[in-house]
Amino acid sequence: MSMLKTECSHVDQIVEGMQPRATLCEECGSEGPLRFCATCGYVGC
Ligand SMILES: [Zn+2]
Ligand SMILES: [Zn+2]
Repeated sequence: MSMLKTECSHVDQIVEGMQPRATLCEECGSEGPLRFCATCGYVGC
């Protein structure tokens, strides 16, 4: 089973002040370490 990282395609379109839309990874529920998309707020690990 592959475990490819899924990221949104617009991570370079930074929006100032964007906040993470979740406090846990949206894919696996991990508490961290987390990173988030500064454009849409997507949270991943
Ligand atoms: Zn995760
Ligand atoms: Zn995004």
